[in-house]
Amino acid sequence: MKVAVIGGGINGVMTAWAFARRGDAVDLYEKGQLMSATSRSSTKMLHGGLRYLEHGHLRLVREALQERSWWLSQAPQLAQPLELLIPIYRNGERAKWLVGAGIRLYDLLATGSRFPRGRWYAADEVAERFPGLKRDQLLGAYGYWDARMDDYQLGLWAAERARESGARIHEQTPVLKVNPATGEVSTDGSEACYDRVVNVAGPWAERLLARSGVISAYRLELIRGSHIVVPGKREQGCVLQAPGEKRILFVLPHGENTLLGTTEVSQADPDYCAPSNEEIDYLIANYNRYFSRGMSRQGIITSFAGLRPIVASKSDFSAASRESVIERRGRLINVFGGKWTTSRALAEAIVMKSRH
Ligand SMILES: Cc1cc2nc3c(=O)[nH]c(=O)nc-3n(C[C@H](O)[C@H](O)[C@H](O)COP(=O)(O)OP(=O)(O)OC[C@H]3O[C@@H](n4cnc5c(N)ncnc54)[C@H](O)[C@@H]3O)c2cc1C
Repeated sequence: MKVAVIGGGINGVMTAWAFARRGDAVDLYEKGQLMSATSRSSTKMLHGGLRYLEHGHLRLVREALQERSWWLSQAPQLAQPLELLIPIYRNGERAKWLVGAGIRLYDLLATGSRFPRGRWYAADEVAERFPGLKRDQLLGAYGYWDARMDDYQLGLWAAERARESGARIHEQTPVLKVNPATGEVSTDGSEACYDRVVNVAGPWAERLLARSGVISAYRLELIRGSHIVVPGKREQGCVLQAPGEKRILFVLPHGENTLLGTTEVSQADPDYCAPSNEEIDYLIANYNRYFSRGMSRQGIITSFAGLRPIVASKSDFSAASRESVIERRGRLINVFGGKWTTSRALAEAIVMKSRH
């Protein structure tokens, strides 16, 4: 089968690899460079997503926890287990029992993944591990395990596997239009026909459909997430609960520095994506609520942002956003949403959908 994959983020790369491994003839088109958009601007966690448990997404969390292990087994040089601590304060956003129950369920869903189990740390131990963390009303912290990755290098590693399996990767080649009936893919100055065309263009997926005159049953909302990098080497991660909100913030090891994120701000245009001043202030303010050695804008080494496409059904606007959707339109397969961690599983599901 001849397959075109449009988009060279992690979902496109893993899709190209999945088809090529099965002997299909794959062309991957990327308008810029591989792994240069959302997939490089993630929080760099291979994780099940502890907070998704609050929304009852057990299947999704379980799948992601299993996929986390797969990445670690394939490329241990680019992904390592990481313990994260969730400090619990008296009258905090989430009760101690709730966080503890969540971590026990998380561990249960990760059964077989060989990650250490979560545990409770007394306040003194927490203070030792996180010097500067405010002690007032601190009860202690729950520790649990996930994994860190170098999202850019790990994506390039996967692209290399796709190439070795025979996928042809065309960078700097924007796809202008697709035709679901004939499988035609138009780039600047050339057209080619495919048995299957996979639109995995991330935040730009809807734009490609609009240019091609294709109607989808889904609409995308783009949510920007921003991070800042600040000085300070860390061995462990920390999850802070944003006061007065259900949101959490990650404080993570980032080479010799610390990564802090993320925010959630709606945005319309996928072409420009950078943290706003308000988001940077929000991250700093939340960090300073928890750490006594205050941080300021001057201390920021760098910052970056990515866009998360949130999927909603056009016929049911109130439907909860799903993690990913695969939609078939003739020879065209549209892919919306998804997590970095589960990109391999998503690619397998795309291959299955393409066979029917
Ligand atoms: C702030 C933030 C933090 C996140 N953190 C995590 C995390 O820690 N762990 C996790 O598992 N997930 C995380 N995610 C989710 C994860 O990053 C995404 O699910 C994943 O990167 C999406 O990959 P993608 O390939 O679909 O999109 P992208 O990486 O955006 O790739 C799409 C590609 O398509 C290309 N393209 C677009 N239009 C065209 C065209 N017409 N022709 C050719 N090419 C085109 C673009 O240039 C781009 O390279 C995070 C997301 C955000 C926003």
